[in-house]
Amino acid sequence: MFSTVFVEQDIYQTQRVQSILAKIKYKNIKTLSRYDDVWGKVKKPYLQKRENLNLFIANKRGNLIKETPDAYGTGRGKHFYFIHSYNCIYECEYCYLQGYFNTPDIVFFVNHEDIVKQMGELIQKYPNEELWFHAGEFSDSLNLSHITQEYKIYYDFFKNNPNCFLELRSKSVNIKEVIELPPLDNIIISFSLASDSSAKEFDRKCPSIKHRLNAIEKLAYKNYKLGLHFDPIIYHEGFLEEYETIFEQLSHLPLETIQYISIGVVRFTKDVYHQVANNYPDSNIHKLDFTKSFDNKLRYNRPMRMWVLNRIKNSLLLKGFQDEKIYLCME
Ligand code: SF4
Repeated sequence: MFSTVFVEQDIYQTQRVQSILAKIKYKNIKTLSRYDDVWGKVKKPYLQKRENLNLFIANKRGNLIKETPDAYGTGRGKHFYFIHSYNCIYECEYCYLQGYFNTPDIVFFVNHEDIVKQMGELIQKYPNEELWFHAGEFSDSLNLSHITQEYKIYYDFFKNNPNCFLELRSKSVNIKEVIELPPLDNIIISFSLASDSSAKEFDRKCPSIKHRLNAIEKLAYKNYKLGLHFDPIIYHEGFLEEYETIFEQLSHLPLETIQYISIGVVRFTKDVYHQVANNYPDSNIHKLDFTKSFDNKLRYNRPMRMWVLNRIKNSLLLKGFQDEKIYLCME
């Protein structure tokens, strides 16, 4: 249930917008000339998303696709992320969006054709490179996809461009749109996973690990290509045993469907860390000290990080996952 839905006047009558409006509940609706005349103009406390969440439906202008930061992705090829949404209905305590935007209000950008056009231009520009396009940098890629229904547009584009790759990253189990279309080798559905205790404690409003594993299993047996992100790992007593239980379950899946596995330890920019401390002052996230690291982000100290990452990586290897598919994220 959204409090107010704001729709850009130019697109209000379009079939795409009307189809979104028919699928959601809201108290008020308003039109406006441009979403960013209102969205983020005044600071709205992040936790107001619990009682008073607005939705903006808009066209994204300007640069729709950006190059990812270094140390992002598998290390192969050139990586970009594209922006088709801002913010999220879930509430992970470590989420960097809480310090990134001025508001938790959600934006759906609906000009997907402009995004795929820019993808096409990048393919022309880099004809000899393996290009990767990642969704989900500023939102969850799948949790509202039954409402926004953009998957088919991207699917058709990647079907026609088999040499570049799409990654949709999610914590949701909303795979309805995905399984309606047959798998493609260059579309990777990736899931963020954590220990069961961490997910229960920090991944507020997200599907449980059990449900995420069920969704992964369903896709794996239908031969969809998958990515797994064990990121962010938050240290707690018994964390390794809990991760091992997940690895054990995953090791029974057809492993050739798993394209890559990233592992990363919790980290924050200074701004996000202040927001986390402010929004969740009693959170167990703060149990271990954070120190400023090589890129000015706050992380556990390096020996601790390396110990965690090595333990996780070793136990993945022991369960039969291939070394060349595992990479360390943002290290
Ligand atoms: S699922 Fe991702 S985007 Fe959504 S709240 Fe959690 S970390 Fe943030």
